[in-house]
Amino acid sequence: MPDGIPIQPKDSRGYFMLPQAPEDAGYYVYGTPLHGAGQYGHPVLLSVLFWVEREWQAIDNRKFGIGNISQAGGPVYPKHHSHMNGLQVDIRALRFDGQQVRVSRFEHDQYDHAATAKLIAIFLSHPSVRQVLFNDPDIHGVRPWEGHDDHFHVDIRVSVK
Ligand SMILES: [Zn+2]
Repeated sequence: MPDGIPIQPKDSRGYFMLPQAPEDAGYYVYGTPLHGAGQYGHPVLLSVLFWVEREWQAIDNRKFGIGNISQAGGPVYPKHHSHMNGLQVDIRALRFDGQQVRVSRFEHDQYDHAATAKLIAIFLSHPSVRQVLFNDPDIHGVRPWEGHDDHFHVDIRVSVK
């Protein structure tokens, strides 16, 4: 749209799509389905992401990659059963070159262990973050989980009133 206030798509649960990485954002988006169709998040999750984004931008000018959150309305992802309620998000490990593509923790020429550890520490310092699943054994506070070598999985807790 040429100008005016962009309207964020909203699903049947009232969850908004993560803004698709405006130019000055501290993150970029990736994952399938494309164009944010898999990035509908609970309001608490989105506010955690925006908080982490600000903290990250204060210490690093690379963007971090945000992947699957949940699909509109919360259907089950094939092979990704935990992403249904908008309280989980996948985040890519950081690369030295800042390119917006995946990197595995085994690619020692590009995997930035220290930066990934810093980003994870920011997530873990937020009171709404319940756990982070990632397979780098030298990062404090994470739990290993099959398949989590090139991205980490963040679980958010929401207090029920
Ligand atoms: Zn995940």
